[in-house]
Amino acid sequence: MSSSDFAPKVMKAIRWHKAFDIRVESVPVPKIQDPDDAIVKVTLAALCGSDLHIYRGHGGVEKVHISGHEFIGEVTELGANYGSHSQGRPELYSTLKVGDKVVSPFTVNCGECNVCRLGYTCRCPDGLLFGSPVLEGGQAQYIRVPKAGGTLFNLSDPKSWHSGLSHEMKKTALAGIADSSLLMLSDILPTGVFAALQAMNHPKVLPALTGRPWPSSFFPGDPSASMALEDRALTFAVIGLGPVGLCTCVSLLDMLSAQSVPFQIVAIDPVESRREKVMAVYNKIDEAGRGTGKFVAQSIDDAKNTVKTWTGGIGCTAVLEIVGNTSAISLAYDLVRPFGAIVSVGVHGEPQMPFTGRQLYNKNVSFDFGRCPVRVMFPMAFDLLVKRQDVFGGVGGPDSLVDRIVGPEEAPEMYAQFEQNKIGKVVFDMWK
Ligand SMILES: [Zn+2]
Ligand SMILES: [Zn+2]
Repeated sequence: MSSSDFAPKVMKAIRWHKAFDIRVESVPVPKIQDPDDAIVKVTLAALCGSDLHIYRGHGGVEKVHISGHEFIGEVTELGANYGSHSQGRPELYSTLKVGDKVVSPFTVNCGECNVCRLGYTCRCPDGLLFGSPVLEGGQAQYIRVPKAGGTLFNLSDPKSWHSGLSHEMKKTALAGIADSSLLMLSDILPTGVFAALQAMNHPKVLPALTGRPWPSSFFPGDPSASMALEDRALTFAVIGLGPVGLCTCVSLLDMLSAQSVPFQIVAIDPVESRREKVMAVYNKIDEAGRGTGKFVAQSIDDAKNTVKTWTGGIGCTAVLEIVGNTSAISLAYDLVRPFGAIVSVGVHGEPQMPFTGRQLYNKNVSFDFGRCPVRVMFPMAFDLLVKRQDVFGGVGGPDSLVDRIVGPEEAPEMYAQFEQNKIGKVVFDMWK
């Protein structure tokens, strides 16, 4: 008799049926379908802004499925490809064990193909999004993780993943961080770091950072030109202050605080409670983490005036767009300077882009669009999570990222409240 004979056959799951129709139901516990699969017992799962696209019925989804792509849990079963015979494949195929605590990126990635090797793991040809019609989600008591050896992070064995911290520091940090905080590593924190990293490393931001005008900024050895500090001032706008927007602001501040360039950030959201939360978070961060720049949270109209005043009407060096709708991307275009960059991590639906090629030409705008490759952003996100436990550690405070931890029965109500901007980050304890 194998251990799986004792495993439960049915489980509780939060399932999407149709637009605005979320139900808590009993469904079969998933089984291993492929030798690369792992089954994970989910301890906590989170509700995310991008779950709202399916919740609202956008994107042509019809299939009833388990929701959610953010989860943390414990391995309960492994396919036949796990064990010491799997040398030469991603490390977890030979080291992952039943009982290990794991957190998963929100997409599957094989870790073995050219796309994954280049670091673009969110676009792995074998990639699938959890909590979508193609793969059951994490808002359930158990989940099947395909290609788990290339996808999961083993929190029980911090040697198995790289970080800027030493092994001992990782172990100590992990012992002190709550699961509700580690859960943010599945999507929102890596995505925030991804947005900030792309903006800070954009070729059009380089002149300010290097002190050399474009294109000397590409050639570190070129002594021909340098710029006055006042010309190097960086102006950033962050559009959308939901949970990912908050993570983006914290990450951007962390990166800027390590630079010796003047900077100013306007964080924008029409919802007052979100602006209040981002300011509470900002005020909690110590001076070393905030840097010496300006940081304000404003409504759309106020922010337009602020950018005009700060930049003499020229516009932002870069705009980080975290929402993914037409008005947010229009605002990004309005706020960005000529030769500026727009980084967009929001999921865009209909209607299509609200500007023409000619408008982009007339401003020399660069765009970086798309999903975060969580797998490769994980080390930076983990280090920031450890460093900023002051804002990522708590639950329910005016300055904490996670608003509530609730049982699955509250899911229909939590989806509705989240959709109406009445609540921030919600975590489901699937066993409550
Ligand atoms: Zn998410
Ligand atoms: Zn791959």
